[in-house]
Amino acid sequence: MTRVRFAPSPTGRFHIGSARTALYNVLLARQSSGQFILRIEDTDTKRSTPESLAEIQEALRWLGLQWDEGPGVGGPHAPYNQLARRELYQQHAQLLLDNGHAYRCFCSAERLKAVREQQQKAKQPTRYDGTCRELSREESERRAAAGEPFVIRFKTPKDGSTTVRDELRGDITVENTTIDDYILVKTDGLALYHLAAMVDDHEMGITHVLRGSEWLGTFPLHALIIRAFGWPEPKWCHLSVFLKPTGKGKMSKRDVTSEQSIYALELRDMGYLPEAINSWTALMGASFGAEEELLDLAGMIERFKIANLNPSPARVNFEKLDDFNGKWIRRLGITDLTGRLLPFFAKAGIDADPALLERIVPLIQPRLVTLDDAVDFAGLFFREVPASTAEALTPKGLTPLQALGALEAANALIKASTAFTTEALEPPLRTLAETLGLKPGQLFGIIRQAVTGQPVSPPLFESMEIIGREVVLGRLERAEATLRGAKSEERGA
Ligand code: GLU
Repeated sequence: MTRVRFAPSPTGRFHIGSARTALYNVLLARQSSGQFILRIEDTDTKRSTPESLAEIQEALRWLGLQWDEGPGVGGPHAPYNQLARRELYQQHAQLLLDNGHAYRCFCSAERLKAVREQQQKAKQPTRYDGTCRELSREESERRAAAGEPFVIRFKTPKDGSTTVRDELRGDITVENTTIDDYILVKTDGLALYHLAAMVDDHEMGITHVLRGSEWLGTFPLHALIIRAFGWPEPKWCHLSVFLKPTGKGKMSKRDVTSEQSIYALELRDMGYLPEAINSWTALMGASFGAEEELLDLAGMIERFKIANLNPSPARVNFEKLDDFNGKWIRRLGITDLTGRLLPFFAKAGIDADPALLERIVPLIQPRLVTLDDAVDFAGLFFREVPASTAEALTPKGLTPLQALGALEAANALIKASTAFTTEALEPPLRTLAETLGLKPGQLFGIIRQAVTGQPVSPPLFESMEIIGREVVLGRLERAEATLRGAKSEERGA
């Protein structure tokens, strides 16, 4: 049975890299009746924050990546945060001390610093020089019992080599001399990642570890730790790194414009859909062998294969996110989309009536890139439209007088129309443009500006239908008055 885990440290914002790691884990678990476990690696007490922990959970839920075991859910291996599991790691560190795979190191910080500096000067790799490695068991016990502070280090074999297998990259072999005697437990008794994660993965019955490739460097150490316990190894997959949009260098939070973000919840607030984020991050590092790029979770679950994970770095492409988001928006049903838009109107201080918004949504759905765009496109339906200036009402190439003439003729026609529908209004107004020797766009531009107060709007006649006859006629008259004022100014001049 597949058991996978997503094991974030609650030390910062939840970014698209975390989103993708969690997603791949979910896809693998859901292909079989496996489990997806959320484990919180909070042993870095200085950097862990409750805000970050809350954000991880909120973002995962928003993305539809609900965990089967973990915080708030419980499960057979609770607790799921490492700080609450510290005794378990201490017991395991003791096992390694007992079987000779670890040792206590009493070296002071000053001594270690001096060693490091010396190595740097000699242009040697910086690593522990092994001073405490050969302490006798008796001396080690005696000094510990006397209350001398110590860390516990892994006793990496000094000869031979270690071969580990990454499912994306195949076998990786390193000389053991290149692997440091890493610290497993700090002086305060808290285990570090190297020990804690290995113990938890074993205890929690993890079958596949899908994690970031920043762990490739210490991957051999991790395999050695597992082997020192005599445990079976999970299958390891180190996922590709994200590159900046330029393709040069690793992506970081500084590489975005004010219209972009690498944080899941910030992207949510900008109006991106979880569906779009998932299908976008999924393709940065994996192929799904589908013609259709926009797979939903079910489609991805069906097609996901570890063999199709790609270890090459993936460039972050925000245009693609926009493209995916627009496409996802167009796939949504009207009621669904309306529901998702409402919070954006509320945020803009517009109290949008859901029933009215639902009538407007079909007009704007084809043009939205983000949900937030809807406020610009459709805000006019919910607020008082300010009067336009004569300048705004006069299309290029016409004088205000000509614009007034056109508007009066159009207004007369609209007033006389018995039905206030697109079908009834559009054809006679097109004919009118022709009669006046105007392009339809010029005439419609004057009407659009008069009625919506903006030069760009959702389709004009459909919008007029929604705004309603009375309000439309009032706004047309108001625009006429403005143009008349400009005309008399022209005369006076
Ligand atoms: N806590 C580690 C991190 O956030 C987890 C790595 C792992 O998945 O094992 O990078």
